[in-house]
Amino acid sequence: MKIPLLDVNAQNLPLETELKAAFEKVLRSGRFILGPEVSELEGKIAEMAGARHAIGVSSGTDALLLALMTLGIGPGDEVLCPAFTFFATAGSISRIGARPVFVDSLEETFNIDLQDAAGKVTKRTKAIVPVHLFGLSADMRALTAFAEEHKLAVIEDDAQALGAECHGRPVGGIGDFGTFSFFPSKNLGGFGDGGMVVCNDDQLAEKARSLRSHGSKPKYFHHSVGGNFRLDELQAALLLVKLPYLKTYTDRRRENAMLYRERLGELASSGSLILPIEPEGFGHVWNQYTIRIPGAGERDRVRKILEQEGVATEIYYPLPLDAQECFRELGQKGSCPVAERLSTEVLSIPIGPELTKSDQERVLQALSSAIGADQPLSSAESPRL
Ligand SMILES: *Cc1c(COP(=O)(O)O)cnc(C)c1O
Repeated sequence: MKIPLLDVNAQNLPLETELKAAFEKVLRSGRFILGPEVSELEGKIAEMAGARHAIGVSSGTDALLLALMTLGIGPGDEVLCPAFTFFATAGSISRIGARPVFVDSLEETFNIDLQDAAGKVTKRTKAIVPVHLFGLSADMRALTAFAEEHKLAVIEDDAQALGAECHGRPVGGIGDFGTFSFFPSKNLGGFGDGGMVVCNDDQLAEKARSLRSHGSKPKYFHHSVGGNFRLDELQAALLLVKLPYLKTYTDRRRENAMLYRERLGELASSGSLILPIEPEGFGHVWNQYTIRIPGAGERDRVRKILEQEGVATEIYYPLPLDAQECFRELGQKGSCPVAERLSTEVLSIPIGPELTKSDQERVLQALSSAIGADQPLSSAESPRL
């Protein structure tokens, strides 16, 4: 039996009865666009994110796009974002006509390196988009101070981090905007695409709400050009069924992460593998458990063995954004050396809430023997810097 990276059926099928009831409720209501289900979900996500407002949208990507549009960011503007993240973070900046400026990452947390960001601020820089990668919040205290110093708007990309905390505050409502995704692989995974924008400012929230539906208010009177970025009523109803279980899902992810740390500690102290961390004061929600395997070709060698053992893994992300073909004309390739190295070392292993104890034991077994085997003596002997 193969061990998948994430088993969506194992999570969703036990809720089949409730999900069908939610579907039927919306079906019978005949109301499919911006109805009570979307409003209820907005209220609950706002509360979870510690924000005054939440606006349900069509995806995490559109959430980013909508936040940028609402802030009036566009051609001539620069926006700082990590090079080591999912494409959408930078793609949305590019799509509104602004220039993404790629910032390097901190290798211990995978999150944005503010020291590198400081050297990349120009007169044109309008905003910074920290990504709480793999479920660990960026250091939002330092980031908020940085943004104040340089007068930048902050858009948190919370796609992987619903429920994560930074110094006792939930992510989302810390920045000017927070953006969430309900893509099936996220911590609150939906049944297709969906997302949410959160913010604290009343006027910005109203503007975002209007831009979500073609910038009209009232209907058919347009003061600005928006788009159709709405979250489906049906999607919201189904997400509301799953939301009460999110805490249990997160607890399970945390347990799995703890077991990995406990059991891989010895291998990690030998230097042949580096474990992800949860720094003091941070609440990690472990959307991914991403280990690092240093040494030329080592990560790929280990990955192949795991695959042969039936353990699915993934490389998030194999190519930093500054090196992507579509961003070649930005001329930033090579500007993020840590991101570049991380992309050769990272390997995400199964951490989902449905991972059984025995499957996790199999992952541990496969990983230990893959890493233990074929270690060149020289690398075992030389101390790691
Ligand atoms: C998933 C993800 C997104 C985009 O979300 P979609 O709902 O798939 O559009 C954006 N940023 C990050 C970091 C993500 O992981």
